[in-house]
Amino acid sequence: MTAHDLDLTYAQLDLGVREESEFRLTSVSSTVVVTGPCPRCQGTSRTEFPLGVVGSKGMPWKRDKPLTPEKRSAVVADEVLYCECGFGHPELPEGALFVGCGAYWRIKPASGSGT
Ligand SMILES: [Zn+2]
Ligand SMILES: [Zn+2]
Repeated sequence: MTAHDLDLTYAQLDLGVREESEFRLTSVSSTVVVTGPCPRCQGTSRTEFPLGVVGSKGMPWKRDKPLTPEKRSAVVADEVLYCECGFGHPELPEGALFVGCGAYWRIKPASGSGT
């Protein structure tokens, strides 16, 4: 297990596309929650994607229906995740939107089905 690297200086780095299997996707009512280690600082990052906000692409989500894993994957695949390890890394800008090391990445759905 890799320890959270608290000495990393805040930097907005694009870490590219990560495998979905590196993270855990769950959902709470109509919010998709992604938890997993930040690929850069290894801190545990937790990001929530409320479907009301991400539904900008006109996907017909039914708010009262539980989300299937496929839907969670689809939601997250459309989003950029930022490190939200919750630790103020050195040089974290004041008022930063995400408290973490500044890294960001995307998640590729695990089952490469479709496209
Ligand atoms: Zn990080
Ligand atoms: Zn961190």
